[in-house]
Amino acid sequence: MESHLVALVRYRNPVASVREAVELSRGLAALRRGDRVFIKPNIVFWTKATAFPKWGVITTSRVMADMVALLRDAGAGEIVIGEGIVLMDPADRETPRHAFEALGYGELGRRYGVRSVNLMEGPFKAVDLGDGIRLNFSREILESDFVVNLPVLKTHNQTMVSLGIKNLKGTIDIPSRKRCHSADPQRDLHCHVARLADPMPPMFTLIDGIYSNERGPGFDGRMRRSDLLVASSDVLSADMVGARLLGQDPAGVPHLAMAAARRGRPTDLSDVGVLGEDLAAAARAHAWDFAYSEKEGDALPLPLAQAGIRGLSYRKYDLSMCTYCSGLNGLILSAIRMAWKGEPWQGVEVLTGKSMQPTPGKRKTILVGRCMVKANADHPDIAEAILIKGCPPKPERIVEAFHEAGIALDPNLFRSMDQLPGFFMARYANRPEFDESLFAVAPQDPAPPEAGGGADMARQAGRCTGNEESTHGR
Ligand code: SF4
Repeated sequence: MESHLVALVRYRNPVASVREAVELSRGLAALRRGDRVFIKPNIVFWTKATAFPKWGVITTSRVMADMVALLRDAGAGEIVIGEGIVLMDPADRETPRHAFEALGYGELGRRYGVRSVNLMEGPFKAVDLGDGIRLNFSREILESDFVVNLPVLKTHNQTMVSLGIKNLKGTIDIPSRKRCHSADPQRDLHCHVARLADPMPPMFTLIDGIYSNERGPGFDGRMRRSDLLVASSDVLSADMVGARLLGQDPAGVPHLAMAAARRGRPTDLSDVGVLGEDLAAAARAHAWDFAYSEKEGDALPLPLAQAGIRGLSYRKYDLSMCTYCSGLNGLILSAIRMAWKGEPWQGVEVLTGKSMQPTPGKRKTILVGRCMVKANADHPDIAEAILIKGCPPKPERIVEAFHEAGIALDPNLFRSMDQLPGFFMARYANRPEFDESLFAVAPQDPAPPEAGGGADMARQAGRCTGNEESTHGR
């Protein structure tokens, strides 16, 4: 029986397309007049230093602005936009402010009285999610009356997809995020992510698929203009449709399969009614994984192996690698690729995350980050351990450590790491479908919707259905 409604809508026009998705999905049916609304965009990364690809990485400001206008029209009370951006300097308050202003949230504040909140500043509340899993969620979201979840249609190199449920990871504090990447296989990342929606108030999810991201979730993925919106009052149903759009069977996406099992739901969409576009016709395969090769006991990402690199083993990240180390891993690999001059290195192994064990017989073993140092600094199979302590690990120490292992990483790459995302912009030059203006809110933006759609939503809100129509992820 189809008991969960999902709207799948083509993005065509400002305001009208988001309104169509909201109305078709009856997404604001549980919103009551005067409700305090929390909006969770996806701002997975930000830097003040340079322009970088936001398409398929960050929720478009177009969708955000349209959603805020619709909420105001539907009678919402206070509206808060909240995000907890992971930054290398945990004390950095300026970069989130810059992100909110650049994305036009300041303009939304001036126009609609919306407040933007850096969730990293707290406060948080501990929530018991069962089976020994406790995470600290932002009180801003927990104590709101209604949540609007605005993830991006993207893949993820650890969780396969990053959609509505995964987007909520941005509302927990840093210690909780680290706990999500537990080394305990019984309580791994998937197991934690599967529960993130459990304590949410009534929630409407609108997946922003104007752009989608292959091999996401970051700016180094391959972005596509997809022009899709997925909307539902049931986050799991929205995510299962989103996964299908990305070419993934929800049954094969561990956190979706787990979330479905916890709710006694099938993963084949047999209890989901999709309205609007034809799902099968709109779906496009998006690769999520990165290929590695194993040769003569040495593991390497495929591009590094194909470059002929020898004498180095750099195993694939596992689910236990988190936050700061994840942010540095790609840079380290790029720096290794650039440091390769054709002379084999001398039996070096690099270990990351919390779970990896050393391979016997290596001459030097680089342990990246506090967790790896703690796990393996005294391991009997390591001939010479080179330690990169700290969380986050310091970039200067990463360079030193690789130099100690005979791999001359360029220190300038690490000194200018803020600038590197800018180099990815070249991929999108002269491609007008990658429209930067969708990530700003201009003062002359189209006016909020008039009566019609807005009045319909006000009527829905006026029905004052309370919480009963929302599955709110339980
Ligand atoms: S050292 Fe790395 S893996 Fe360990 S908690 Fe810090 S960021 Fe995560």
